[in-house]
Amino acid sequence: MHELVDVLGHVLPQHAEDSNGLRTMLVLATATAYEQEPASIDVTLVAWPDRDHYDGGLGPEQGLWEDGRCARCDVEVTSNAKRAYCPVCNTPCTLT
Ligand SMILES: [Zn+2]
Repeated sequence: MHELVDVLGHVLPQHAEDSNGLRTMLVLATATAYEQEPASIDVTLVAWPDRDHYDGGLGPEQGLWEDGRCARCDVEVTSNAKRAYCPVCNTPCTLT
């Protein structure tokens, strides 16, 4: 999983488009569906691990267990790493 996140972290930001004062970008996200009526889905953006903090590596080899919110744009983010960057605004996030 963390290698996939790393590859997408390099590729997806290159597809951002700016038009009429709007910036549209592709991000990786998780979608959690709850088995209830009416249907409910939580969408969380995947934050890119802070490679500098992990000596050029990708952080812990685990699933997307770390969660939090971006302090700047207030989106909910998740990552395998406690230190990661928001995929929308690139702000460093400290996840727990
Ligand atoms: Zn952000």
